[in-house]
Amino acid sequence: MLRSTHLKININNLLFNMANINAFIKDDVILGAVLKANAYGHGAKYTAKTLYNHGVKYFLVATLLEAIQLRNENANYQLLVMGHTPDDYLHHLINYNIIGTVFTLDQARLLNKLAYKKGTQAKVHLKIETGFNRLGMQINEENIQDILQMSQMNHLDIQGAFTHLTLKSKDSDLNQYNMFMDLISTLEAKGIHIPVKHVCDSIGMALYPEFHLSMVRVGALLYGLQSEDKGIIDVKPILSFYTKPSCIKKIFSGESVSYGNRWFAKNDTIIATLPFGYADGFPRTLYQKSFVTIHQNKYPIVGAICMDQCMIDLGISSEVTTNDAVEILGPYNNIEDFAQLVGTNKNDIVSGFAARIPRVYIKDQKICHIENEIL
Ligand SMILES: *Cc1c(COP(=O)(O)O)cnc(C)c1O
Repeated sequence: MLRSTHLKININNLLFNMANINAFIKDDVILGAVLKANAYGHGAKYTAKTLYNHGVKYFLVATLLEAIQLRNENANYQLLVMGHTPDDYLHHLINYNIIGTVFTLDQARLLNKLAYKKGTQAKVHLKIETGFNRLGMQINEENIQDILQMSQMNHLDIQGAFTHLTLKSKDSDLNQYNMFMDLISTLEAKGIHIPVKHVCDSIGMALYPEFHLSMVRVGALLYGLQSEDKGIIDVKPILSFYTKPSCIKKIFSGESVSYGNRWFAKNDTIIATLPFGYADGFPRTLYQKSFVTIHQNKYPIVGAICMDQCMIDLGISSEVTTNDAVEILGPYNNIEDFAQLVGTNKNDIVSGFAARIPRVYIKDQKICHIENEIL
């Protein structure tokens, strides 16, 4: 691993989640696995490889760079960039055989031209605006005309269309779905057939089987990060976070720890230094709020959290050694409670784990792969 601080990823649970999602969707619905943000911190390369070897053939990311990273690993699966690709980089979509998301006539024209020069077709999905007001073509007569024009471009292959639900309420989601489907019908009536239609993310998929269409875009649920109230599909958490103490020392009552001498020992005590910090994605704002677990005992993080290290108070009678495993997140410190402590959601925590943390993949209780991204 080359570092004692590491993320552990349980491949059996990843496959368990995938299987349960597959069982939930109909056979003709594509499971689109969302691998953006380094597969929500789980490591995009090995997660993609594992899922691909178990039948997933469609992967979705947010950015061109993420897509290129995966394309360099495997030329065979479908790759969709769900976000915007700036004009200057559009040719990479064609060169790397990546599906782009398009929501303006200008970009469609540019892609068509670039693909013409290459003697090929640019593959795109249209992003449709139905109320999220993030990316997408608003539904109006002018834009329908634009889509008609796009559909006539010889070097543009419109493979799909999608929109994104706000998940505010069943009514608003249904309204978005209907707006999207009305547009699809309008296009069909004009002879434009869009093969891959999709609107559901994890929560949409779980809540609305009737909205699955051709594909569901699943991130959080695949990683076992389900919303408490939406646990219709059985999934298990797959990520845990461990380290080992780098230094253990006794300090005296009244001595302080870390920047600014803000934490003082009330009694003589033993302090352990842990080799992770805010640059690893552990929120610095957890000052004086968080704890870790060693041999099922909880110990508070004391003093300011540093960039690469933090300290815990073991208490005067501790027998913890530098060989003991320290659980930062896992069975005893679950991600749900942790995110609540930070005041954010689980995706925010896991997607923030730094590239410099080795990812250790475990299958059947054995290490099956170690990914060190910065090497
Ligand atoms: C991130 C994302 C998803 C996946 O969302 P989850 O809730 O993690 O399943 C789906 N669609 C779009 C457009 C996204 O940006």
